[in-house]
Amino acid sequence: RRQALQRLRDQPTRSRDGRQVELAANIGGISDLEKVLENGAEGIGLFRTEFLYMDRADFPSEDEQLQVYRHVLQKMGDKPVVIRTLDIGGDKELSYMSLPKESNPFLGLRAIRLCLGREDLFRTQLRALLRASAHGNLKIMFPMISVAEELRQAKKLLYEEKQSLQSQGYSVSESVEIGMMVEVPSAAVAAHAFAPEVDFFSIGTNDLIQYTMAADRMNEAVSYLYQPCHPAILRLVKWVIDAAAGQGKWVGMCGEMAGDERAIPLLLGLGLHEFSMSASSILSARAQIAELDYAAWREHAAEALSMSDQDQVNQWVRRQTSGPS
Ligand code: PEP
Ligand code: MG
Repeated sequence: RRQALQRLRDQPTRSRDGRQVELAANIGGISDLEKVLENGAEGIGLFRTEFLYMDRADFPSEDEQLQVYRHVLQKMGDKPVVIRTLDIGGDKELSYMSLPKESNPFLGLRAIRLCLGREDLFRTQLRALLRASAHGNLKIMFPMISVAEELRQAKKLLYEEKQSLQSQGYSVSESVEIGMMVEVPSAAVAAHAFAPEVDFFSIGTNDLIQYTMAADRMNEAVSYLYQPCHPAILRLVKWVIDAAAGQGKWVGMCGEMAGDERAIPLLLGLGLHEFSMSASSILSARAQIAELDYAAWREHAAEALSMSDQDQVNQWVRRQTSGPS
């Protein structure tokens, strides 16, 4: 089986009836790159940059960040690399950055909220990203966007830094796509309003499920509520994809759900374009998709949306996958 999978390494990802999608990898740093290339990822769908900021005594400088981003872009050649700006706060802390104690850290000052309040930090990262953009196919993504003002402010800072770099003689790519994560329910529900202001969305189901079900993703006691294939989640996913498609924008997913074999047929059927997952899942996901019929799964996924709970959806998926075709 391993050998059969290896043969898919340099193949595009296509359903049995020819629907092409992209399988990308999630990474946390340079050391993950070897696995990404070995497993035939078509790009990087999520580079979690917070790891550059962890396990050290101070913030990484612009040049330190540039070296890491450039290395990743060069290794990936012309393949797309989505780098997410700093997503700290919530459960992820930095020893050298004191943050106010909050009673609900996941609902507090984290990710883009924190970066917009600490422009010095944010601008340093944006400059490093823009300088790296000359070396590959970079896409920049902002985490935890809840309202359009955050997106506009982040983009404004990005353009200011771009102009400043260019006036200093740095070369910056003119084709960097700008996207946002959809991981807050407000962003999913109002996706139509965000779509004109981005090039792409990436659905962060780890947080989107937690916030939609009001169930802490780390809390065992409420893990029964953490249901990726609940119709409420599937409807949000469909809503986001349809809003984007209507405006010619592409949609990816970089939460764990994108690599979940029970969810993949439904996500394909809902029209997801890019699936970003741990590198080790890519070849089996490619093999799975090759067996699926997109036209049929469009209908099966539409059925799933009107079911009452996740159990019913999972049974339905199992029946459609294993039953007579
Ligand atoms: C997500 O929320 O789905 C996501 C990909 O981001 P993280 O897991 O880093 O919060
Ligand atoms: Mg998240």
